[in-house]
Amino acid sequence: MERERSKKAFEEAVQYIAGGVNSPVRALKAVGETPLFIDHAVDNKIYDIDGNAYTDYCLSWGVFLLGHAHPSVNQAVHEAVERGSSYGIPSLPETELAKLVRKCFPSMQRMRFVNSGTEATMSAIRLARGYTNRKYIVKFEGNYHGHADHLLVSAGSGVARLGNASSAGVPREFVSQTLVAPYNDTEAVKKIFEEYGQEIAAVILEPVAANMGVVLPDNKFLPFLREITSAYQSLLIFDEVITGFRLSSGGAQKWFGIEPDLTTLGKIVGGGFPAAVFGGRAEIMEMLAPNGPVYQAGTLSGNPVAMSAGIATLTQLMREGFYEELNGRVDAFDKELREVAKEKNMVLNRVGPMFTLFFTQGEVRNFSDVNRTDQQRFAAFFRYMLRHGVYVSPSQFESNFISIKHTKEDLERFVELVRGFND
Ligand SMILES: *Cc1c(COP(=O)(O)O)cnc(C)c1O
Repeated sequence: MERERSKKAFEEAVQYIAGGVNSPVRALKAVGETPLFIDHAVDNKIYDIDGNAYTDYCLSWGVFLLGHAHPSVNQAVHEAVERGSSYGIPSLPETELAKLVRKCFPSMQRMRFVNSGTEATMSAIRLARGYTNRKYIVKFEGNYHGHADHLLVSAGSGVARLGNASSAGVPREFVSQTLVAPYNDTEAVKKIFEEYGQEIAAVILEPVAANMGVVLPDNKFLPFLREITSAYQSLLIFDEVITGFRLSSGGAQKWFGIEPDLTTLGKIVGGGFPAAVFGGRAEIMEMLAPNGPVYQAGTLSGNPVAMSAGIATLTQLMREGFYEELNGRVDAFDKELREVAKEKNMVLNRVGPMFTLFFTQGEVRNFSDVNRTDQQRFAAFFRYMLRHGVYVSPSQFESNFISIKHTKEDLERFVELVRGFND
């Protein structure tokens, strides 16, 4: 498998683009590779500029639940573009997508569209602080909520690979109002609330962590957080940028039956375009400008092309039987893969169509467990899969994703490759 063109393209890119990439994990540094340059993508596959095809389990970090280049999404985008691609004035697709989102997420009585998950969480936090008139927020180790300053504390995803919990350029004062607890640790949260409870604006979390690899919440964790935040009149924010529309049409909140005060969605909701959304109870959301005192805005927010891609995507996944079909296939895959993982001294964490194979033994319930994994063995695994035409997410701190276009045969091949992996 030749990758000469990708290598050359990277050599050129680094002379113009910082690090040669526009988002750090894409550089494949952690797995000792240089990036693939993609020519095109269709359904379950990506094709690099050297002409190699890979079955894609990263799917632009979980965006493409329907697979790449879905015909109805593409058609909607073409039609939208013909009408002009931004107005800075309201248009009908914004309300149309909002209606679909609320149908899926009834807790999002009012919402606002933004351009990235980072903006969604950043705005939700500001709103929570404005609404409660309190300053502290609580987040969890290994949870990633985008790259806003005050959320870059013990963050997962690409930040996890920096070896430093935070980022340079973020003064300590900026993060001094962010309190951090280990994921799944109810005692630690209790202690934080005992000390700071009256001043905590919100608890933000990934209801299923996916940016330290997939880590599921213990049975009691989400109900506990719902209870303690209500007791202290703090807000509970579910960052469902990954889990929204992935675990179910109603995300993790429907899956676990827990209703947060505010929700952030991204990735799938934009159908492959830069769109994200935050929303929640009407009385909270009405605090936003122009009705209220909390400022938030965006030149391209509610962009009609992105809205149209979102509408087409949600229309597909709201079809009767969509998740049953997807999860049926994935459940069978889970059974096979779990057996093989055990033989290979790996741990499989999986919920719905998202999973991580951890190169460790014993349970993986929090960030310290993930940090005990064998990074070198994972890097070898990534390269092995790549050689065999399979692109898995290029870090132990990320989730893999399955789309509706991944066939039973694709999934069986994945299991067979894992079985054949000898490091
Ligand atoms: C990807 C992600 C974000 C950030 O979204 P961007 O669009 O990359 O800014 C926030 N939260 C979670 C849970 C994510 O997975």
